[in-house]
This record gives sequence, C-alpha cells and structure tokens, in this order.
Amino acid sequence: MRNLIIIALVVIGYFQLKRLLWESPPLKREKRAKEVADEMVQDPACGVYVPMRNAVPRTISGHEFFFCGSRCAEDYERKIASRNA
Ligand SMILES: [Zn+2]
Repeated sequence: MRNLIIIALVVIGYFQLKRLLWESPPLKREKRAKEVADEMVQDPACGVYVPMRNAVPRTISGHEFFFCGSRCAEDYERKIASRNA
C-alpha cells in the first residue's frame, strides 16, 4: 500500500514537471515578449499609434499610459493635473 502511494506521487510529479516544461519553453517565452514589444499602443495626447517598445511609458494618477514622445507625456500629464485641480 505504501508503495502504491509512492508510485502515485512519482507519476503525479512526473506529469506536473512535464506540464511545467511544456508550458514554458524558453523559446515560447521569448516570442511572447516580442509580441508584447510589437503591440501597438495609442498615445492619449495626440491619438497616434506607436509600437510599445518605442513608446514612452508614464504612470499618471495610477494609470499607465504610453506616449509617442516625452513631449506628449508631459502635455498629457499637465492636462490631467489641471483637470484634477
Ligand atoms: Zn503623441
């Protein structure tokens, strides 16, 4: 009976390990990271779409925004600040 439990644990462990290895191969993770970097985000200040890797991220009052440049980021930050004031 004790042997059966050990065998069951080994089998469960094997499948979990297999699933873990299968679900996150390094290549797949790299591809996902690339997809995120290529994702288009909209600049809320001027409405232009930019690839995320080229965008300027800025967290304004707890929300993350992406801008085409630091100029738009600053303009938008000022706009939000004046709206909240
Ligand atoms: Zn812009």
